[in-house]
Amino acid sequence: MPRYGFLGLGIMGSAMAANLVRAGFGVTVWNRTPEKCAPLVALGAKQAATPRDAAAHSEITFAMLADPAAARQVCFGPYGVLQGLDEGRGYVDVSTVDDATARDVGAAVRECGGRFLDAPVSGTKKPAEDGALVFLASGDRRLFDEAAPALDAMGKKSFYLGETPGQGTRMKLVINSIMGSMLTALCEGLSLGLKGGLEGSDMLEVLASGAVANPMFSIKGAMMLRDEFPASFPLRHMQKDMHLALGLGNDLGQAMPCAAAAGEAFKKARAGGLADEDFSALFRLFR
Ligand code: NAP
Repeated sequence: MPRYGFLGLGIMGSAMAANLVRAGFGVTVWNRTPEKCAPLVALGAKQAATPRDAAAHSEITFAMLADPAAARQVCFGPYGVLQGLDEGRGYVDVSTVDDATARDVGAAVRECGGRFLDAPVSGTKKPAEDGALVFLASGDRRLFDEAAPALDAMGKKSFYLGETPGQGTRMKLVINSIMGSMLTALCEGLSLGLKGGLEGSDMLEVLASGAVANPMFSIKGAMMLRDEFPASFPLRHMQKDMHLALGLGNDLGQAMPCAAAAGEAFKKARAGGLADEDFSALFRLFR
């Protein structure tokens, strides 16, 4: 049985690491705030003092960190992953970052003799708990195949999107730029309808019966009508993803008017105190 490392025990990482432990793998965890390791240790994981130690004790180490700055810090920083990787060890960053970060980390890992995948996930807290995430991977093909038992314990499907690190990340940014634009459109439409005297529940039922039906509108729409936004996907991360997607659009010369407007709305909501609510709390900006 391979031994796995897991760095970053936030909303997603804690659920994903727990699924690795429950599947019977030996898992070594690390988190910047060490107290968050306790529930994983209670399940049977070992706790490492640094990312370096976790990587040095594992065949493959996964990282689920907040943003590009965190991903770079944990990789390149003091006692970072690079110091624990030697010949043949694997590093799989499943955080949502930008493609430059994925490429830089990938190049540094290869220079140390290690192997790298960026493999961000589609799916939120519940799919993470249920082992039903979708992985969007690019980089070392052999590592993708070797990581399959772990990816299968944490997810329901894994896509391999090419040898160049960053392609998985680009796929993730495409998804989230669409998702952020759709969520903004839902906020706008529901708010318009409520001001026009329509019942919220009627609007959701009508939307669910037509061509624009989708699970996100049903789930997030119901949260909006209840005005309850416990964080599955924190708004600050969605704002970060819109920013990263727009950066990719700038790099590639792609016009993104919908994502640009949605990104501004998320930025305003983040600055207005909604950063730690679920991203559907954007609705409060429109009401
Ligand atoms: P989260 O609950 O905010 O957890 C963030 C994790 O990053 C924590 O473990 C945090 O450590 C760590 N961290 C932050 N800054 C750090 C730094 N400078 N150095 C080291 N560690 C640092 O976030 P999450 O919801 O689990 O999301 C994690 C990633 O997955 C993000 O990139 C997000 O965009 C992506 N994602 C999230 C979802 C979702 O639905 N939640 C879905 C798909 C993808 P502390 O505990 O010490 O703060």
